[in-house]
Amino acid sequence: MKRILLILSAAVLIASCGTQKNVTQLSKAAGTMSEVLPKVKIPKANATQIAADVAYLASDELEGRDTGSDGILEAAKYLQNRLHEIGVQPYKGDFFDDFDAKGAKAFNVVGMLPGTDGVLKDEVVVIGAHYDHIGFMKAVAGDSLANGANDNATGTASVLAIAQALKQIDFNRRTVVFALFSAEEKGLLGSKHLAKRMKAEKENVVAMINFEMTGTPMVNREYIAYITGHDKSNMATVFNEANKDRVVTGKLAKAAEFNLFMRSDNFPFYNEFQVPSQTFSTFDFTNFDYYHQPGDEISEVNSTHMAAVVDAVMPGVMAVINNERLKMMGNE
Ligand SMILES: [Zn+2]
Repeated sequence: MKRILLILSAAVLIASCGTQKNVTQLSKAAGTMSEVLPKVKIPKANATQIAADVAYLASDELEGRDTGSDGILEAAKYLQNRLHEIGVQPYKGDFFDDFDAKGAKAFNVVGMLPGTDGVLKDEVVVIGAHYDHIGFMKAVAGDSLANGANDNATGTASVLAIAQALKQIDFNRRTVVFALFSAEEKGLLGSKHLAKRMKAEKENVVAMINFEMTGTPMVNREYIAYITGHDKSNMATVFNEANKDRVVTGKLAKAAEFNLFMRSDNFPFYNEFQVPSQTFSTFDFTNFDYYHQPGDEISEVNSTHMAAVVDAVMPGVMAVINNERLKMMGNE
């Protein structure tokens, strides 16, 4: 019976040209998501587009994207345009999620892809990164502008690349919210605001996947990116099992030592919803010398590597938004 359905659905697949219907047919035929997902074609990330996004966000023109500055407003407008051109909807009618950052006018930029499954669409997966940085600082070698290329134009560009891929695949049974946060550098204020707002609006957030500093390859690791709070959930296992081509993620001792789990925008979502909420990063404390320095410029990050990170995580992202829910494990 299964085989007949599969053949029938293959015929439908050839006959129609839309993407979403095809995959829906395929999913009905094959039964479990674990059988279906490996058959879904995932487009490769575009390293040139990623480089262009990082280059603009980290340009001198945006003056280091300090919360409340003119530069960050330009960054936010750019991100809104990018989400719009990708085909992502504004979150609840507005890409701008305004909040007060200790007296400064601040805004997250938030888009969404509504879920394609009648039931699972009520479950929300948040994919995020902060796009703010620290603006001007004490000069180093005559340069006082902290451009924030690696921190965190790279994570921001990664989220745009994932949005692009998911829009193209058009098969996300759960609703996906793309959240680009402001005021992370002021104390995770943007992510705190959005997590609290989503909690107040009774959104059923089931997972949060965050990206921070993915601009430089890790040194001597078999995996491409570590995740913070590695043992707190089965996220690492799910991402590694979903990708048949390479080891996606692993545990970095330094991440636990510095308690990075609590130091990025995943953490407010963990606090509000107590669901798996973790950050992918490739900054391993040895492979980048310009953390919060004026030297954090586009010339210091590698767009081929960033595209490889996106390609590596995409099968896991597809599993999280379509397959079984991620589970908490309760360990450090
Ligand atoms: Zn950061």
